[in-house]
Amino acid sequence: MKQRFLASTLNLRDGVEVFIYPPCEGKCQVLFLFLGTRRRLKIVCRHQFAVLLKEIAKDQSLEASLAQAHLDLDDCTAAFLNFLEGEGIVAFGNPIATDLLPAAYVEQYKRQMYFLLDVLKQPELAIAAQKRIFDACIVVLGLGAVGSNILQQLCMVGFRHFTIADYAVVEKNDVARTPYAVGREMGKPKTIAAKKLIDDLAFKPEVQIHDLVLTTQTRIEPLLQNASLIINTADEPYVGYTNIRLSRYALQHNVPMVAAGGFDAHLASLGELLIPHVTPCADCYATFFHENLKNWKPMTHPVQERSEWFGGLGSLSAFSAATAVLEVLSYFIHPDTPSAAASGGRGEFLFHDYSLDTFSVERDIHCPSCGEEEQ
Ligand SMILES: [Zn+2]
Repeated sequence: MKQRFLASTLNLRDGVEVFIYPPCEGKCQVLFLFLGTRRRLKIVCRHQFAVLLKEIAKDQSLEASLAQAHLDLDDCTAAFLNFLEGEGIVAFGNPIATDLLPAAYVEQYKRQMYFLLDVLKQPELAIAAQKRIFDACIVVLGLGAVGSNILQQLCMVGFRHFTIADYAVVEKNDVARTPYAVGREMGKPKTIAAKKLIDDLAFKPEVQIHDLVLTTQTRIEPLLQNASLIINTADEPYVGYTNIRLSRYALQHNVPMVAAGGFDAHLASLGELLIPHVTPCADCYATFFHENLKNWKPMTHPVQERSEWFGGLGSLSAFSAATAVLEVLSYFIHPDTPSAAASGGRGEFLFHDYSLDTFSVERDIHCPSCGEEEQ
């Protein structure tokens, strides 16, 4: 075990700032600040260990650092080094070196992998998360303002295997809402524009495209059969129905799903990550809103076709897309222990006062799809 320390180079990781307080009675307080996550970790250790930290930061062998700190590699020092490694403060050799992923892919996404290392602390966990991303197939339904931004960001995270579906064509005003090369793609199906976006960004991409309208009648099985995760942004004819249909499929097949925000009047809403039998499902959400909004009776609006005078911002759609992608990333980092992103809730960013309006939704134990009686 101790030989492992001496056999490889030991580095203080770039993403960690170390603050050493003046020694007091042979001990020192040391504060570690992790730049990627803003995590702070404060310890009290022997003064010599604080000196060792300073020496490790120099370009020299561990043996030289130990000698400068007047330390032997005894059990106590080895335990301290193990602690530093376990917290992601030091790394032996290159922490993201792996045979599990192509070297060119690791090079392309190394800054993200260092960030994952900050979050997960252990190099093998960060590599495993990136490997799950590399292998996954993401189905994105709806390639408008939110869907196209999600797709773009998923490629930037390292996803590369997609099934995508939409029915519309690229229009001139999409330049204000989507990352498509509108000048080049205008008049072409959004599926084609989206595939080009993926081809430009993703690592050795694999893409299946489906030109179709997603309705309650659409045969969804061919779209979803290889899905590791489903993302629905299709808000026509009605996002509530498509979410429920897809959520029921997702429950049956134990596939997570993101019911993305940013639809209709919810310009910068966060959307929901639905994990079968862990979070509320789309039926739970529908029941929740049915109960809570039962006394809301909007009058019939005189304008039937409301899209012409109904405003929005590309940045708000991109905000919704970014939060959806962060939920997806959170799931792929912690597939067995979903984090706060999967706690069940809704939120909406409000531009006019820069606030985030959030509330929680619980699983409905009587839910016809995911309730206790159904399990
Ligand atoms: Zn449910």
